Amino acid sequence: MAQAAGVCRLVWNLALEQRRDHWRRYQARTGNNLNHTTQCRELTLLRAEFDFIRAVHVTPQQRALKALDEAFRRAWAGLGGYPQPKRKGLNEAFSHHGREIAVEKINARWGRVRIPKIGWVRFRRSRDIEGSLREATFSLTPLGWQVSFGCLLEGERPDPGGAVGIDRGVAVALMLSDGTSYAVPESLAAVERKVASAQRVVSRRKRGSNRRRKAIQRVARLRAKQARIRKHWAHRATTEIASRYGTVIVERLRTKDMTKRARLAGVAQKRGLNRAILNVGWHQIETMLAYKAARLVKVNPAYSSQTCASCGTVDRRSRESQAVFACVACGHRDNADRNAAVVILNRGNTPGVEVAGCGADEARTVQVAKSLGNPTPSGGGRC
Ligand SMILES: [Zn+2]
Repeated sequence: MAQAAGVCRLVWNLALEQRRDHWRRYQARTGNNLNHTTQCRELTLLRAEFDFIRAVHVTPQQRALKALDEAFRRAWAGLGGYPQPKRKGLNEAFSHHGREIAVEKINARWGRVRIPKIGWVRFRRSRDIEGSLREATFSLTPLGWQVSFGCLLEGERPDPGGAVGIDRGVAVALMLSDGTSYAVPESLAAVERKVASAQRVVSRRKRGSNRRRKAIQRVARLRAKQARIRKHWAHRATTEIASRYGTVIVERLRTKDMTKRARLAGVAQKRGLNRAILNVGWHQIETMLAYKAARLVKVNPAYSSQTCASCGTVDRRSRESQAVFACVACGHRDNADRNAAVVILNRGNTPGVEVAGCGADEARTVQVAKSLGNPTPSGGGRC
């Protein structure tokens, strides 16, 4: 598997280099442009020449070329950065078509997958495979090899309707406008403490020594574990939210401000804690909501924590403490995070109230408000 991944990385890097530095010469020599098809032809020549490349299955290499082609397409379309070389130890992965592999269930905990040229490999099952199997990706993480199956599910995704606002906070990671809260799992903080002590061990070890290398590996394993816990939590939370509400409204993300707010409130004075907040993975959660929820709306985040959800008054003094919101104008009292979540919900449903400007985002919120039958809260106006 390491060989398969290593050759894939080599093919990617060679193909990237060819596209970046030698495309003019290639064009002059062959009259063709470098693209997926012509680079696959190049791959055939490469495989004919080198035994160690021929020794591993061809599909993952072709898929690497396809992925590179896609990366270039995205870069030209302005959707991503310029493709970067893959690095040893960091990008150890290869993937196969679904039709090339076979998956069997051994028991509730274990399954096995047949990889071409490698054979049957047992894996720890985390869930059932649904729909038709389209691809399998094998990647090396600091915790070992991991397989992920991409499946195509037929049929429409059910839209439960309704709308919910989400406030992303420090004390509570996710607060919904209906009062449901999702806290980051405790185990994450426990692992964070282990990371801190493992990092101290690294700093005690001599540079370039074997023991230092091992200590660094331990930190990497703990980090990978943290990422796994966080991702699992994010999947559970977002799946539940998307199954209950059709429209999900969040603030447009400004991670820099999040940490600043935390520092001001005295919640996180230590840099480590600030980092833990950044590590909640807002971006990951947003990405998950974008594909799980029927609609995702992003609204202007300005003053959402100081705005009254009941009368719309914006006043810093309304924020009695980190936890309590008490409106100075109408006396409305609520949990501060839930108040903010309701404010966000209102902003998503009533465009043009507090949202400055008439940009593209506002146009989108108008559309959402219509599709919801426009449950306009008090003080609603038109943009
Ligand atoms: Zn009020």
